[in-house]
Amino acid sequence: MAETASGRTEEEFQDLLRRLELALEASQIGVWQHNVNDKELLWDQQMHRLYGTGLQDRKVSSDVWMKALYPEDVEKAVNDFQIALDGRGFYNSQFRIVLPSGEIRHLRSSAHFYEDHDGSPSFIGAEWDVTADVQLNRELTSQTAIAEARAVALEQSRARIEYAADHDYLTGLPNRRYFDRRLAELRKASDVETLGVLQIDLDGFKEINDKWGHAAGDATLQSAAARISAAITAGDLVARIGGDEFVAVLVNVGNAERLEAIADDILSRLRREVRFGNDMLRIGASIGVASSRSDNAGSLLAESDVALFQAKKLGRNRVEFFTPELQADLHAERRLADELRLAPMLQQIEPFYQIQVDARSRRIVGLEALARWRHPEKGLLSPVAFLKLAEEYGLTAEIDAAVLTRVLADRAAWVSQGVEPPRVAVNISGRRLADHDLIEGLQALKIPPRAIAFELVETIFLDDPDDRVLANIDGIKQMGIDIEIDDFGSGHASLIGLVKLKPKRLKIDRQLVTAVTVSEEQRRLVGSIVEIARALNVEVVAEGVETEEHARILADLGCDELQGYAIGYPAPENEIAALLKPAPAPGRRRSAVAGGGRATESARRRSDRN
Ligand code: C2E
Ligand code: CA
Ligand code: CA
Repeated sequence: MAETASGRTEEEFQDLLRRLELALEASQIGVWQHNVNDKELLWDQQMHRLYGTGLQDRKVSSDVWMKALYPEDVEKAVNDFQIALDGRGFYNSQFRIVLPSGEIRHLRSSAHFYEDHDGSPSFIGAEWDVTADVQLNRELTSQTAIAEARAVALEQSRARIEYAADHDYLTGLPNRRYFDRRLAELRKASDVETLGVLQIDLDGFKEINDKWGHAAGDATLQSAAARISAAITAGDLVARIGGDEFVAVLVNVGNAERLEAIADDILSRLRREVRFGNDMLRIGASIGVASSRSDNAGSLLAESDVALFQAKKLGRNRVEFFTPELQADLHAERRLADELRLAPMLQQIEPFYQIQVDARSRRIVGLEALARWRHPEKGLLSPVAFLKLAEEYGLTAEIDAAVLTRVLADRAAWVSQGVEPPRVAVNISGRRLADHDLIEGLQALKIPPRAIAFELVETIFLDDPDDRVLANIDGIKQMGIDIEIDDFGSGHASLIGLVKLKPKRLKIDRQLVTAVTVSEEQRRLVGSIVEIARALNVEVVAEGVETEEHARILADLGCDELQGYAIGYPAPENEIAALLKPAPAPGRRRSAVAGGGRATESARRRSDRN
């Protein structure tokens, strides 16, 4: 300490000392000196204040310090001092002391080794109260711990939220979001050479849901998820991407045979019954497969979708592979569907009419309106060319409605030409029959009673005996529109339909009709249908009457009305209007027959097939 002041005047030194004292006073730092051999300490006032001794003496026994130490800290404090002494260097320590009042104080002590004038080892040091710092520190530490714990909890819930966002709650499988991300990763991964994508759609799932309830539907989905997962290996990916749609991505499967084997395996697993309580549920699946090198996998999902579409189209419960031809077909089909969607609005849908005659008098008693699509490039298309497409894309209801609108317009035109039009039968699809707004829409059309009949195939009714369908059928009848069962006897539970639907008339299917000329048994069958219909007060129309012989036999068997090429081909409005014109006496009947039976092959093509 003496050295620090060397080179200064006494005055300067005193001044410096005063300022130092002031600074120490202000900072509440105690200053001590310790001659190790003497076991004696020199304390300033602040040291006494720090230790709360209540004394003033400059000299203090080192025992005073030792005794003040907090018992647990003695060892460390003494040890720190010993190390400094051994090294004849800096002393640095922190320890607790117990004040006479019992208060505990944290002190930081810092000192410097020097040799006394007689050579004995000494320290000069400073000590200050760090209790507040320690407390603050402790506080901070505990705050940090709390913050850390909070961060951990936050991370856990984030992970949970993330998992939930990425997984399907029901099956635990990754969902669409996660799937898209993983597929993108797989496509970039350097160790992935080929990717195979299987799109799996459960067949019959809706029926299970409808018939057995949602719990059964859930059980089915869970079982499907487990079965698909069991059929793939660890590096592969399976996800649920829609209600009953799953997709599996197979990594590095290699050849198409392997891929097909796995797809077949999944299919056979899914075909096994699912236990639900005491019941066994049966489902199936359609699977579309696409594969490629991973660097070329951009459209795999779309391709497997095309293949899946094909699998469903070919009757479901099967595996189909993507091919470029399929893609082209699908493109063409989608374009046609897009055009068909617009066709009703563009007035491209129009009815052709086929006459129905009284089996005995051969007078025209009705017409069946048959949809035609006047395609701007392809020409006139008949239902074979577009009806299946319409069903696949859900467009039948609009087509039915367009036909009906045109039929009503044609009728109105005929009336204004002085013709009394017969009843017109229009075909109605299941989709339209289940439409909420059907009755309201029909009411808006102001259909005259008995002017129109609706032909429906009984499968519509029997497959889906929906309350809405029932209500709509009632509404239709109340409006004075007849209900007819189309294609009667074509293989469905015909009698149930008859009793339940109470139709105005039934139309015996063409297949039954065709056979009456060659089979006695078929004649008897038609005969008994007629009998039952009579008993139920239902009229019978024979359709597909192709020859005069058919017409005669069917009339003999008791059919009320006849329809078919022998009677007349489907024809456009103007040709039919000509047939309906009130002509002098017997002309009417003759023209009707002339339109059909004697029509040449070319005439037939012109009016029906083009
Ligand atoms: P469908 O209701 O059974 O109509 C009778 C079909 O048989 C018509 O075919 C008709 O041209 C044809 N046909 C008539 N007489 C004979 C005959 O003597 N021999 C043979 N072999 N065939 C005959 P088209 O017009 O091609 O219609 C086919 C089917 O398309 C219809 O069968 C009907 O199910 C459906 N369809 C037609 N128009 C509509 C419609 O507006 N809406 C709905 N939903 N379906 C329609
Ligand atoms: Ca029909
Ligand atoms: Ca029919």
